[in-house]
Amino acid sequence: MNKKALWNISYGLYIVSTRYGNDLNGQIANTVFQVTSEPVKIAISINKKNHTHELIEKSKIFSVTILEKETPINFIGKFGFKSGREVNKFEGVRYKLGGSGAPIVTEHALASIECEVENAVDVGTHTLFIGKVINGEIYKDGEPMTYAYYHQVKGGTAPKTAPVMEEVPKKKYKMYRCRVCGYIYDPSKGDPENEIAPDTLFEDLPDNWVCPLCGATKQAFDPLD
Ligand code: FE
Repeated sequence: MNKKALWNISYGLYIVSTRYGNDLNGQIANTVFQVTSEPVKIAISINKKNHTHELIEKSKIFSVTILEKETPINFIGKFGFKSGREVNKFEGVRYKLGGSGAPIVTEHALASIECEVENAVDVGTHTLFIGKVINGEIYKDGEPMTYAYYHQVKGGTAPKTAPVMEEVPKKKYKMYRCRVCGYIYDPSKGDPENEIAPDTLFEDLPDNWVCPLCGATKQAFDPLD
């Protein structure tokens, strides 16, 4: 099997949120897709290890925020690389509660969809939750973030619990990978969101530079072969 065939599938980038009692949680997901239109239903694939999974199983509700292309990488990191068991991911984030009671992230949002779970399909490491759409809202016009854009332009990575396969790009400079989140520092791109110009070598990054995705220090980075 040529696993590279799978890298050709297109995805978006979303925040899936839910709530059970006072426990609010959200996570980054790339697998959100409409499955029927009459009535409207969507499916999401969530890793069983994630706190969001546990909460959706109990509450049977979830919301999906469709992120804009301009979403900063550290905002994605906030929902992607820390567990809701340890931190409150909604602290300092603009959100509201939907009619179902599920939180809906409205920051960097183009639109949101709210669902009630109708079916859950066990697919091994993940569960496919199929939800009936009970509400949809538009916040602004714009282009949605795609997984390819996040990956290729922003240098983002998938957490170990994501359902997708990762490709490591080949570049002319020596690249470094964050041991915490997998973010790859590519000197040819630099880190423009944190005022690091393209063509800045890893060795030349200031000592107080941190991983734009998870906030780890330079010491958490290893060179890539
Ligand atoms: Fe990191």
